[in-house]
Amino acid sequence: MTICPTMHTLRVAFITLFTTGRLAAQQAAPAPAPRPYRPGVDVLDYALSLDLPDSGNHIEGRAVLTVRRTARTDTLVLDLVRLRVDSVLVDERATGFGRDSGTIRIPLPAASSDTLTVAVRYGGPVTDGLVMRNDSAWGWTAFADNWPNRGRHWIPSVDHPSDKATVSWTVRAPSRLKVIANGVRLGEDPVGGSNPPRTVTRWRMNEPIPVYLMVIAAAPLYEYDLGETACGLTLVGRCVHQWVYVEPQLADFLPGPFRSAADIVSYFGSLVGPFPYERLAHLESSTRFGGMENATAIFYPDQPFRKRTMTDGVVAHETAHQWFGDAVTETEWSHLWLSEGFATYLAALWARKSAGDSAFRAEMEEMRRAVLSSPIVAERPVIDTAEQNLMALLNRNSYQKGGFVLHMLRSTLGDSAFFRGLRHYYDRYRNGNALSDDFRRELEASSGTPLGWFFDQWLRRPGFPELTTSWTYDAAAKRVTLSITQATRFGRYRFPLTVDITTAAGRRVRTRVAVSAQTNTRVTLDPPLDAAPLDLVFDPDVELLARIVSGRR
Ligand SMILES: [Zn+2]
Repeated sequence: MTICPTMHTLRVAFITLFTTGRLAAQQAAPAPAPRPYRPGVDVLDYALSLDLPDSGNHIEGRAVLTVRRTARTDTLVLDLVRLRVDSVLVDERATGFGRDSGTIRIPLPAASSDTLTVAVRYGGPVTDGLVMRNDSAWGWTAFADNWPNRGRHWIPSVDHPSDKATVSWTVRAPSRLKVIANGVRLGEDPVGGSNPPRTVTRWRMNEPIPVYLMVIAAAPLYEYDLGETACGLTLVGRCVHQWVYVEPQLADFLPGPFRSAADIVSYFGSLVGPFPYERLAHLESSTRFGGMENATAIFYPDQPFRKRTMTDGVVAHETAHQWFGDAVTETEWSHLWLSEGFATYLAALWARKSAGDSAFRAEMEEMRRAVLSSPIVAERPVIDTAEQNLMALLNRNSYQKGGFVLHMLRSTLGDSAFFRGLRHYYDRYRNGNALSDDFRRELEASSGTPLGWFFDQWLRRPGFPELTTSWTYDAAAKRVTLSITQATRFGRYRFPLTVDITTAAGRRVRTRVAVSAQTNTRVTLDPPLDAAPLDLVFDPDVELLARIVSGRR
């Protein structure tokens, strides 16, 4: 997802207020091992039928879940906030159930098989998750906006990223609206005898996804067909068919930034591995986010369309999530960087591909600036197991620092080992879940380098290195000696450091030194220089996430 600017302001205020208490809590207790969200059950499939209203926010629904029991458990707990529950059937037999404001507790028969079907009939006014509104420009629309756990406001579900499932949609809506959902459209049929006319639209997603990515859109939508793209770079079909949907009066804006959509999917497909799904739609919507990566149906906010300020950067970010976030999903929210850091860095790589090295460099400089100036980075680790407010995880740790960590892995391991490890990680965990150590193991295998120290210092500790550098020239020995001093605030770091030397003759010589996790590092450089150099530049290619103060020689 992309954060929108207003959210960012709110978050900074929140962080400032609550910093002290949370920091104390983090230091007091070691992180507990992640506990399964709903132990003993795994939802395999959701068959969701919804009746949408002509106006207002009242829905009627039926959810049929295929649930596998993975351990001995006698109760299925589903998330569903507030809505009325009329009936529950387990394997087509009516059963009693417990209900509170956030869950349905369903007793499971002891002697049944491992796999059960659970049907819930429910309904009522929806207050979040499926956003139904009346907009002066657009009229009545419904757009799902589930992140992080708002899907439970309209879908009876195991609403956690660790439980992924396939989903079918059957949506009855006024015929003047187009209904888009995850996966492939199976059909559109008029509902007999309805007045005003209603249409039932069916969609099917064959790949498992978490509930926060299960969405529908129902709105008057103009369809722009981008055609078959990324042919040969997709897993499921031969090509990825892409479309853009906007409110009808904005038809002339298209293709706009979606001109790049074909190349973006092709580029990431060649870099990471085949696109995971059959199709990809891009929709103007009412999402509160700057963009939301719903599987096969990316939702963007309406304002950048209406102001015509949409750029291909947000398209690249949300499209990258189809690989990371959607196909490979973090098992725990605390590993959100596996989603947001990856999308942030892949979007920067797209900038390099489409706009050149200087654009990429500028993007990495901006990413580093954002990290170095962030209070949250100074206080919390990227893998933040103590944070209970999921919205607060949409921060510069998950995005910019996570993205820069990938950049450092790439520069430390080299393109070949880094991208081979990234491709293996995607291939192994596609349509499943992963944690940071799963990614680490793939990079260790591809590079032959142990990386526990790297993941610990960059992801499990707050902060970044703060360096003071200086150098001296010894005329008798014809050598330059570097001195690198690490401040103690965030502990010591180990990293490779590139140094560009401008010789007295004006020649540029590049060297790379290994800096150890200690306060002072002194390194005498090869090769010998006949005269004192004119200048030394530390980290000339923006490869190190550090604050560097260059002292005098
Ligand atoms: Zn994102």
